[in-house]
Amino acid sequence: MERLVDKAAMRRWSQRTHAAGRRIALVPTMGGLHAGHLALVALARDHADAVVVSVYVNPTQFDRAADLAAYPRDLAADAAALEAAGVDALFAPADMYDGVAQPSTWVTVEGLTDRLCGATRPGHFRGVTTVVTKFFNVVAPDVAVFGRKDLQQLKVIERMVRELDQGVAIIGAPLVRDADGLALSSRNTRLTPTARQAALALPTALAWARDAVAAGATDPAPIIAEVRRRLVAAGGEVDYVAIVDDEELAPLARIEGPAHVAAAVFFGGVRLIDNVATL
Ligand code: AMP
Repeated sequence: MERLVDKAAMRRWSQRTHAAGRRIALVPTMGGLHAGHLALVALARDHADAVVVSVYVNPTQFDRAADLAAYPRDLAADAAALEAAGVDALFAPADMYDGVAQPSTWVTVEGLTDRLCGATRPGHFRGVTTVVTKFFNVVAPDVAVFGRKDLQQLKVIERMVRELDQGVAIIGAPLVRDADGLALSSRNTRLTPTARQAALALPTALAWARDAVAAGATDPAPIIAEVRRRLVAAGGEVDYVAIVDDEELAPLARIEGPAHVAAAVFFGGVRLIDNVATL
């Protein structure tokens, strides 16, 4: 596995790889790697000849300085996991912004980013779309893989690529859960054992909602109320619970077609997100 720490070296590696006729898949991450990330790597391998994984904790997508400071970082462990997974290149730049603390150029997707996580994390998606565009410009991947755990992020990236003609095929990877149902997340390492136990209310409540819809419920309001009640009873501090359509991720007045139940909840001060499809 090649280890690349600056943008020029990454660009040269990409040019060499393309010159050899090999298709490149990029898996962007913020490190703290777990089995969910490695499933993305495996999927990337199916769609390309060479897999690049980026590890970069992007400061511009954090709305809270404390969250950025506390974000788990362990590049040695990440590199070992990626080497074992047969990744071709690890791109771990020290700074994607060349020391510019406040960039003046941003990539912004409107509308879709106003809701769900965008409503309570101002500037978050602008940071994501900007850094992902920078990664696309440097790595020049043919394909990039994003997880359905961050469903809104996936939709935002798909739209950005389409509307800006970025020419990267976006692949959505299934959400990977721990054996007890909790969605794998780098942030899970920050949960105390008590908070982790309490956090199981999140996948349990969402599974209950999915089952309620499968049993014929079509009115979102009472389902959302019951999910909130369960989360609060478990000690969660609810950011949002929503039942949304598949395209715009807009709240539904009635559940008829494909929909998702999505939630963000703080357990022990750690913000967790999860979602389930209702079909
Ligand atoms: P992160 O390092 O948390 O920014 O995530 C990097 C990529 O891994 C994103 O595309 C996430 O959606 C994806 N990812 C993180 N956790 C999971 C999971 N449990 N299942 C599937 N994909 C995930």
